[in-house]
Amino acid sequence: MNPSLTLTLLLGAALLAHVALKLWLNTRQVRHVAAHRAQVPAAYVQTISLSDHQKAADYTLAKARLAQWDILLDALLLLGWTLLGGLNALNQWLLSFLSPGLGQQLALVLGFVLVGGLIGLPLSLMQTFGVEQRFGFNKMTPALWLTDLLKGLLLGAVLGLPLLALVLWLMDAGGALWWLWAWGALVLWQLFVMAIAPNVIMPLFNQFTPLQDESLKGRVQALMQRAGFQAKGFFVMDGSRRSAHSNAFFTGFGASKRVVFFDTLLQQLSPAEMEAVLAHELGHFKHKHIVKMMAVSFATSLAGLALLGWLAQQAWFYTGLGVLPNMSGSNSALALVLFLGVVPVFSFFLAPLSSWRSRVQEFEADAYAASQTPAADLASALLKLYQDNASTLTPDPLFVKFYYSHPPASERLARMGAA
Ligand SMILES: [Zn+2]
Repeated sequence: MNPSLTLTLLLGAALLAHVALKLWLNTRQVRHVAAHRAQVPAAYVQTISLSDHQKAADYTLAKARLAQWDILLDALLLLGWTLLGGLNALNQWLLSFLSPGLGQQLALVLGFVLVGGLIGLPLSLMQTFGVEQRFGFNKMTPALWLTDLLKGLLLGAVLGLPLLALVLWLMDAGGALWWLWAWGALVLWQLFVMAIAPNVIMPLFNQFTPLQDESLKGRVQALMQRAGFQAKGFFVMDGSRRSAHSNAFFTGFGASKRVVFFDTLLQQLSPAEMEAVLAHELGHFKHKHIVKMMAVSFATSLAGLALLGWLAQQAWFYTGLGVLPNMSGSNSALALVLFLGVVPVFSFFLAPLSSWRSRVQEFEADAYAASQTPAADLASALLKLYQDNASTLTPDPLFVKFYYSHPPASERLARMGAA
């Protein structure tokens, strides 16, 4: 069998398996949550009301119903781009009025990204103004939503286009090892974006005000000193402008490290619970989770680019995915777009690995927090957070294995109780 047909069949089979697996996991989640909806799990009858439990169940079910359409739409879109000839048509159409070159290549990638974004827009609107709205989480006005979208597009253009142009140029002019140079550029770009995120990018979307609450600040500073950390500032972010969901996080490198609390979190948690949440975040630092995560991400992108370097030179990579390679001129943009479109079909089968690693790290951070602050504070904070975010206490165990970056509340609390 020729390699082009093999690839076509492989993509078809993988896409079918991918969609079937995702829909099956989704159905399992729906069944499991619905089956446990009538009763609060025995361990939580004292702490969680039946109405909160049922709200979490209904919220989870609503999200799962929407996810079903998302799964089908994604698969159809990929099929449309590849085997049904969409990408080929876009390429030919652009070549009908643009001469082959970097401009046409950029236009092709942009067209791919924008069409995908447009098609995904209705579902994203339904998520925000349908599901999130119905459960009282959405605080965004349509005007804010639109401003966010435009800012995001502009930011993507300013930060992303130069990188894209550089990578496409390297693919054509960088020689056999172009993928290595492109990887170097990508790593530097990611570090640059991370470095400017706290001071340049995040203030475009949110307001950050220094933490006013002196007693909380004192607690937090004492904790950081005990744990041997330096941070330049404590900030409160106006997360409530967009959503009632809450969070806390660290940003920045080295000396520019800062701690950010959502204003919604400050309203929900007591100072002792805030301290416990911060101790959990410190645990991620103590265990070097951020550095490890970056190392894994850089290694993965290196492997991916090396694979792309090889695939881009195979004629069957294009024909097998429904595209006629350009006879004269470059195929770099075609290769890049095909690769980015097709890889997730295969990589989803590895999702349990990365989710598992992430959940292990959450347990490690919890254990660290319990060593620095009373475990009871973290336990009650977690319970409040899961409750306020309407996270179900009874997810399907297999669904968790694939999708959950954080362990379900029951597992985290059980571990803390045991320790
Ligand atoms: Zn965490």
